[in-house]
Amino acid sequence: MTTIHNLGFPRIGARRELKFALERYWRGEADRAALAQTAAALRREHWQRQAQAGVEWLPVGDFSLYDQVLDTSVMLGCVPSRFGHAGGAVDVDTMFRMARGRAPSGEPASACEMTKWFDTNYHYIVPEFHADTRLALSSEALFDQVREAQALGHKPKPVLLGPLSWLWLGKSKEAGFDRLDLLEEVIPVYGEILNRLAAMGVEWVQIDEPILVLDLPLRWKQAFEQAYHRLQQRQLKLLLATYFGGLEDNLTLACTLPVAGIHIDAVTAPEQVDLLVSHSPAYKVLSLGVVDGRNIWRSDLGALLDWLEPLHARLGERLWLAPSCSLLHVPVDLAQESALDDEIRQWLAFAVQKLDELALLGRALDEDRDTISGPLAESSGAAERRKASPRIHNPVVQKRVSAISDIMLHRKHPYAERRRLQHARLKLPLFPTTTIGSFPQTGDIRKIRRDFKAGELGEARYISAMQTEIAHCIEQQTRIGLDVLVHGEPERNDMVEYFGEQLDGYAFTRHGWVQSYGSRCVKPPILYGDIRRPRPMTVAWARHAQSLTSQPVKGMLTGPVTMLNWSFVRDDQPRETTALQLALAIRDEVADLEAAGIAIIQIDEAALREKLPLRKAAWQHYLDWTVRAFRLCSSGVDDATQIHTHMCYSEFNDIIEAIAAMDSDVITIETSRSDMELLDAFVDFEYPNEIGPGVYDIHSPNVPKVEAMMALLEKAAHLIPAERLWVNPDCGLKTRGWPEVSAALENMVAAAQILRQRHAKAAAG
Ligand code: GLN
Ligand code: ZN
Repeated sequence: MTTIHNLGFPRIGARRELKFALERYWRGEADRAALAQTAAALRREHWQRQAQAGVEWLPVGDFSLYDQVLDTSVMLGCVPSRFGHAGGAVDVDTMFRMARGRAPSGEPASACEMTKWFDTNYHYIVPEFHADTRLALSSEALFDQVREAQALGHKPKPVLLGPLSWLWLGKSKEAGFDRLDLLEEVIPVYGEILNRLAAMGVEWVQIDEPILVLDLPLRWKQAFEQAYHRLQQRQLKLLLATYFGGLEDNLTLACTLPVAGIHIDAVTAPEQVDLLVSHSPAYKVLSLGVVDGRNIWRSDLGALLDWLEPLHARLGERLWLAPSCSLLHVPVDLAQESALDDEIRQWLAFAVQKLDELALLGRALDEDRDTISGPLAESSGAAERRKASPRIHNPVVQKRVSAISDIMLHRKHPYAERRRLQHARLKLPLFPTTTIGSFPQTGDIRKIRRDFKAGELGEARYISAMQTEIAHCIEQQTRIGLDVLVHGEPERNDMVEYFGEQLDGYAFTRHGWVQSYGSRCVKPPILYGDIRRPRPMTVAWARHAQSLTSQPVKGMLTGPVTMLNWSFVRDDQPRETTALQLALAIRDEVADLEAAGIAIIQIDEAALREKLPLRKAAWQHYLDWTVRAFRLCSSGVDDATQIHTHMCYSEFNDIIEAIAAMDSDVITIETSRSDMELLDAFVDFEYPNEIGPGVYDIHSPNVPKVEAMMALLEKAAHLIPAERLWVNPDCGLKTRGWPEVSAALENMVAAAQILRQRHAKAAAG
């Protein structure tokens, strides 16, 4: 029998039940018992759905009230001292305070850092380590959930984040302390957890070590051997799970670790399957992740069987099948998408459908293909129809892509010459002030958009309501004294969805939510076909905003790489080809904005860094094509038109040259939280164009002081010539309220003014 198992199921609920339960609890509208009840009900339902689909070993411990890395820290008793944990079991509010800084009970404290989980858009809470960190088993949650699953008659396979991945993902908070030194503390606690699970009758434990797909230092590789030798357990079997990439140079290491089974991602790295089979000892279970856990396309079962049948013949019982990674990264159930058109729906599979696919594959392998002839024909038919669909293929677009020439990737003149023309045209002061694009999205604005979408508000009234909002934004910015204005983006629900909705080749779901962090979810649009822009997307709003003021108003667009990285993207052509199609559509929009008299156009690449490959060897290729896509969309303008870009997340030091190669006239970057850590990059590398390192941290409700912002700017001015520095917040303001935004921007403008005076004096004296 081919064993079907799952690495993890989306926990948020098909209708985001967990999100709403959490938020009710945090607001104090529901008690702990109510939250626990919702959580238990979701687990019960999720196990049942998986069992129904034919999954034999059900993941337990993949559920979380906030984040699985945080759960691991809590289980190991790794709670930073500022949360006042006195030892013993860590209670749920302590956990929430670690994640969010506050909870219904306990003193507020600054939350732990949050960062992206590998190259996904899921964020985890970063464990904090000190030399004196002591660990002890501090939570019963996993054991309780195992009992819960057993009581429901399921076969639980507890899921643990492995000790080395947990340590790797954490941060030493003490200079000179190497977190790997904590391994001695960690291993005994994992040993205790495994003993407890064995005593409960657990047979298999999934131990996730996704860092095995990264470039690991030698010491870490050696630590794997030590750690797993010590974790060998006679009574239960360990399934070592890796995902998000290939094992590559860690393959031999992974294959020789003393565990009973290993899972690999056969979607992102199918080439490692044969190597794994030949390198693994004959006793080991090999779990192949053959169904994509990170994308929403239906599998071609026939093609998969062609691949799997010979493997099955060779491996027999040792072959297990699973999704490539946890299904956390896809929506729950396609069956809810009643509004999606039938043609596109038949191409898709969400979590539940993916498990069905695995069960079908298992049956076909154990019996033969005929036992699943119906579903097999359907699956192949859908794959054929998708390949041939005219909705996917647009010859005009394909021709344009193949005709992209080098000239299209270059501005007419280098930055130094453009600069003169732009300065003559824009007449901006030294340290020009601006914002990143969005202004507060009030309840009113959201309601107007909702009513318009629902057909309850006519188009004319919608437009006039939005124009009023834009006028309000312009008025406020003028009052505050900003130099370069924005229209405020009231018409945009989301910076990707807004554009996707206006492009051919994009589809949208109603309930396709995916957890981003905590209770926050995103609903990535589905990019299924060749991208075409039927008509201008932002010009009317930009023109209206510009008509209200004589100061420059920035046109505001989302860049091709961000569109790509925050969508579910077609898998039938390279991502870079899709990026070029998006870039062409945006290039057309840029040209239309320019023709409408917009002198500054910002193209946001908020998510460019997010999908930087996990292996360094693959970086350059990624950076090459992403920079190319950006240059393609931004280079069609005249020298006197100023191109801006904006990027979130401050870890740019290692890719600064690629950022310079984008050749944007101005870049604004998120830096304020890391105290201008970004600027380290400028010590060795002279960034050639203009730059606005964010001085106002918009992620906090606090109003930054004039002095604090000046200090940041002075710091920046040490490394970047003053005439190339801009003054701006570190991201869009849409999640903030007007009073704090006004106060903060007033301070920001004041800081810029003082700086200007100082510089004028210095120049005169
Ligand atoms: N222009 C966008 C905004 O201000 C940029 C958002 C982002 O960087 N995530 O909202
Ligand atoms: Zn941003």
